[in-house]
Amino acid sequence: MTGQTERSVAQVQAEVLAAMRPIEGQVRVALHEALGRVLACDMVSPIDVPAHDNSAMDGYALKGASLAAGQQRFRVIGTVLAGRPGSLVPGPDEAVRITTGAVMPEGCDTVVVQEVCRLEGDSVTVPPDAARPGENRRLRGEDLRQGQVAVAAGRSLRPADLGLLASLGIDHALVRPRLRVAIFSTGDEVQAPGQPLGPGQIYDSNRYTLTGMLTRLGFEVIDLGVVRDSPAELEQSMRKAASLADAIISSGGVSVGEADYTKDVMRALGEVNFWRIAMRPGRPMAFGTVLDTPYFGLPGNPVAVMITFYFFARQALLRLAGALPLEAPLFAARLLTPIRKKPGRVEYQRAIVSRGADGALEVSLTGQQGSGVLRSMSEANAIIVMAAEQGSAQVGQSVQCLAFEGLV
Ligand code: AMP
Ligand code: MG
Repeated sequence: MTGQTERSVAQVQAEVLAAMRPIEGQVRVALHEALGRVLACDMVSPIDVPAHDNSAMDGYALKGASLAAGQQRFRVIGTVLAGRPGSLVPGPDEAVRITTGAVMPEGCDTVVVQEVCRLEGDSVTVPPDAARPGENRRLRGEDLRQGQVAVAAGRSLRPADLGLLASLGIDHALVRPRLRVAIFSTGDEVQAPGQPLGPGQIYDSNRYTLTGMLTRLGFEVIDLGVVRDSPAELEQSMRKAASLADAIISSGGVSVGEADYTKDVMRALGEVNFWRIAMRPGRPMAFGTVLDTPYFGLPGNPVAVMITFYFFARQALLRLAGALPLEAPLFAARLLTPIRKKPGRVEYQRAIVSRGADGALEVSLTGQQGSGVLRSMSEANAIIVMAAEQGSAQVGQSVQCLAFEGLV
């Protein structure tokens, strides 16, 4: 029965991902505005890149066949510069001075770099074996042919993609509408920063970590504030969220405490799975649809929110946004702090990765690992991922890490 047994991280990831139906539609945006947007269709190159055979170096353009035939002295009949193609057509014993990026003169297939040549008056001497025929020439269409797909649909556009599209003369991109994600925090004890803190209250941090993570993914955040532990207020917020957004994320109220109403209200408005996941931190999570809108009911603890967002919501929301998966690779590092662990659950430990004296990667824990301790998250630059079947790890042992930068 749903909710009774513990699920593995991989099972939950697969189930959440499978439930996502990418949003439709496309909008045209200027390339300057396109960073992080998801391409709605393949962008095809309208031109050959480069558009002409051109020189890769400053030097002398000539016929490779002449070099092969033993010719060493060439008469220099002129110069071609980048951006200023000429009409010079050198003969077999003639050369043209050429700069990097300049169009190759007709009949020339080789550039000899200027440093190895000796220039006397209008003649240049090329030492034997200074260049092979065809050297230092970039061929038309070498990078990309006209009609070839330059960047494929589903790419979440990165700086290199923007540069590539610009190099094709394209100044816009057809992208999916920006994914709208509504968020709210729950809890009678939760107070918005900027307000005085009453007795027994804590400040809301979850809307801020979530806003940061969602913004980094290029999504629009609709912040619905803090909602009291009241079924009526929760229902109102869920209805509003579903009417405004493509996906909803709330934090808190998904455990089995008396004031944990989130999943009951979710059930009343849609379909919900309530999972106990074999992981630490972040065990309870609710996932389903509320009024046909995908809904992530994350735990309340601030670190658990970030971890469950990262491992369950991130890929799913990217898919919902129309993006192809962006895998973050794990890397190995040598442990500097022992980790105590029982086999059975995946554990995520906040950590600092640095380079040891021998140049190898080392990793140490950032102190207190309680699931409410955000400071250790703030100090960390990575998390150690301890697989479910793994037990304690000793100093010097190799462990798997995931870098934070650019991810959350
Ligand atoms: P809950 O699952 O609602 O019982 O919350 C678990 C723990 O996380 C409790 O100690 C809450 O006070 C805390 N918590 C819940 N929501 C937030 C929030 N938005 N910001 C900071 N802490 C929170
Ligand atoms: Mg609560």
